[in-house]
Amino acid sequence: MDTYASVIVDITHNKLDRPFQYRIPDELKDQIHPGVRVVVPFGKGNHTQVGYVIGLSAKPEIAPDRIKDIISIDESGTSIESELIRLAFWIREQYGGTMNQALRTVLPVKKKTQAKEKRYVFLNIDEAEALDILQQFEKKHQTARARLLSALLEQSPVPYDAVTGKLHVTASVIRALEEKQILRVISERTYRNPFSGFSVSEALVSLNQDQKAIVDQILTRRNSGDTSPSLIFGVTGSGKTEVYMALIEEAIAQGKQSIVLIPEIALTYQTLIRFYARFGDRVSVLHSRMSQGERFDQYERAKNGELDVMIGPRSALFTPFSNIGFIIIDEEHESSYKSEGVPRYHACETAIERAKMHHANVVLGSATPSLSSYLKTQQGKWHLYTLTDRVMRRPMPAVSVIDLRNELRTGNRSVLSRRLRDQIQDRLAKKEQIMLFLNRRGYAGFVSCRSCGDVIKCSHCDVSMTLHRDKRLYCHYCGDSMDLPKVCPSCGSPYIGTFRAGTQQIEAIVQKEFPNARILRMDADSTRKKDGYESILSAFSNREADILIGTQMIVKGHDFPGVTLVGILAADLSLHVPDYRASERTFQLLTQASGRAGRGEVPGEVIIQTYQPDHYSILTAAKQDYVSFYQQEMIYRKLLHYPPAWEMMLIHIDSENEPAADRMAAFLALMVREYLKEENTRCWQMIGPSNAGIAKIEDIFRKVIYIKHADADTLTGLKSFLEAKMDEQPDPAVSVQFDRNPM
Ligand code: ADP
Ligand code: ZN
Ligand code: ZN
Repeated sequence: MDTYASVIVDITHNKLDRPFQYRIPDELKDQIHPGVRVVVPFGKGNHTQVGYVIGLSAKPEIAPDRIKDIISIDESGTSIESELIRLAFWIREQYGGTMNQALRTVLPVKKKTQAKEKRYVFLNIDEAEALDILQQFEKKHQTARARLLSALLEQSPVPYDAVTGKLHVTASVIRALEEKQILRVISERTYRNPFSGFSVSEALVSLNQDQKAIVDQILTRRNSGDTSPSLIFGVTGSGKTEVYMALIEEAIAQGKQSIVLIPEIALTYQTLIRFYARFGDRVSVLHSRMSQGERFDQYERAKNGELDVMIGPRSALFTPFSNIGFIIIDEEHESSYKSEGVPRYHACETAIERAKMHHANVVLGSATPSLSSYLKTQQGKWHLYTLTDRVMRRPMPAVSVIDLRNELRTGNRSVLSRRLRDQIQDRLAKKEQIMLFLNRRGYAGFVSCRSCGDVIKCSHCDVSMTLHRDKRLYCHYCGDSMDLPKVCPSCGSPYIGTFRAGTQQIEAIVQKEFPNARILRMDADSTRKKDGYESILSAFSNREADILIGTQMIVKGHDFPGVTLVGILAADLSLHVPDYRASERTFQLLTQASGRAGRGEVPGEVIIQTYQPDHYSILTAAKQDYVSFYQQEMIYRKLLHYPPAWEMMLIHIDSENEPAADRMAAFLALMVREYLKEENTRCWQMIGPSNAGIAKIEDIFRKVIYIKHADADTLTGLKSFLEAKMDEQPDPAVSVQFDRNPM
């Protein structure tokens, strides 16, 4: 039985890591959960303070007789903080890490700001009630509170500085009365509006029949109380964004707010301007280039009811709206929705959890849904809506696949196939635009054959092996290794090696072939400058260049009506990332890149160059046939028990001390077997412990264990079990992290 509750009394400042333990009185036992607001005695004088429960425990952290009791539950309205703390608790349970890390994820922490702002304290209740409360304060000898309240009865508002200065009332007393809604603190500062300076010039479009049908069905289901998520599977340019906006408008009419998540990279001026044109000052945005203060302002605007819509990447999910109608996740397949830091939460799963708290609807959209999302629609857990046509009946581009092995065989060693070179020439002559996409995801060291296209894979795990500096090939899953062969194991050709060509080299080659072409390059280098990304895009959009060369950055969501040719230089590079999702990533990249062609009046053409023209992810992408891809890929996932067929959990074990890391890894592996010993071995699998892909970084040794299981909840239980076991025998020299369905 949990006897103690950890309570934080100040969540607005940087003190989340300082919870205090309180005893839970018997009569409150059933009502104390993470997120609940409680009144507790605090500090030497035992002033009452409102705090939030963030965890429960049976163990006292200090001498039990020094632990104070919780006084009561604070019932004055449910606060948005309570909800976010509950969400943090869920995140911690689900994905591991500490509660403090989870809280930092969901609560925007205010840094001490230098800027002076003029603030006022207002009385928020009528005079009679105030006099009543004043008497209570005086009876309880709460002199600071009494002093403040009588000052406010004389004059409201009072400048904040005067309250803390002349009246000697501390900020925490002000906050306590604010929490009880006796007073309000109002700042004069006008929040920075990230959209200021935008000019609005977009005409409203009226939805076509397909779009309208989806909006109607989602709303009908919603109004009948159905809160299961919806997946809109719509080809690129099919008008999904218009559907989102129509749903948001309906939510606004019902007095509800909406959150729109987009991958950071697709958060372009073009997208923002469309939302701004529609929702004006009631929409705001969060992005990584904003300062912490600017972001905090936007959270405050949301909390104060100044906004109906928040757009942003992953973290916008935690916008403090109190009454959410829709959470929309565009490009839901994007890996950036998975947090790469602890807690390693996934925004889609977390959005669904947050939506439950509001009876809100989650709407996900993609031209290439993730396998796990599509599977949910096939299992009947989510609704599926399909947009098969581009708006205005614009045709899908014509796609051709070029076999690079043939080019080599017939003496063309250039990165450009003959057909691609001819087509570039043709478009340059017609003054149309061209995008060249270098798929660089797989860059890290796989070994392939230029004659037959084969890639050296691990015989146990069916993922590509990676060449290390010691000239041996390693499997990043099971740790198996082999010498680098001198000739291709499949065809005996000596043309094997790692593929090396960067965007800069491609640019040089293309420039040499077409000396008069105006070329722009977009990659990590050329976008490093602030606004580098935006300025390259707008230059290309304004037709200041003929050819745009880039990495995955150029395939996301941009609308360039002038582009009629898209060349994909080495389609299969991403097939060889040592990751079970390699085919899925490849299909997505190729489909998204193809979607860039022919967004204007002139139909587009796509040329896919590859060493593996027969690979199903390339064939299905060329036909823009997602369903076939899904079916073939699911067979493979089921066969090898990879997600979403099974659930996977990765345990990272890091230490400067290698024997300590090995000891912990062995201990955890033993505990995994212990926990799962009753289960049929046909529904779970453990791979490792083994060295991580990079076995040592900055003198830290890294070990990994992969566990696959048919049931997600069992893995959540296993994680908690392992955490408890590590608590019993802690080893401070080792750090252990959990990662669910790692990316
Ligand atoms: P997606 O999000 O599926 O890629 P968008 O909503 O961005 O598609 O639509 C692509 C383009 O088509 C945009 O320029 C948009 O303004 C336009 N569009 C969308 N719906 C319609 C419509 N019903 N009538 C005319 N144009 C539309
Ligand atoms: Zn070969
Ligand atoms: Zn392996």
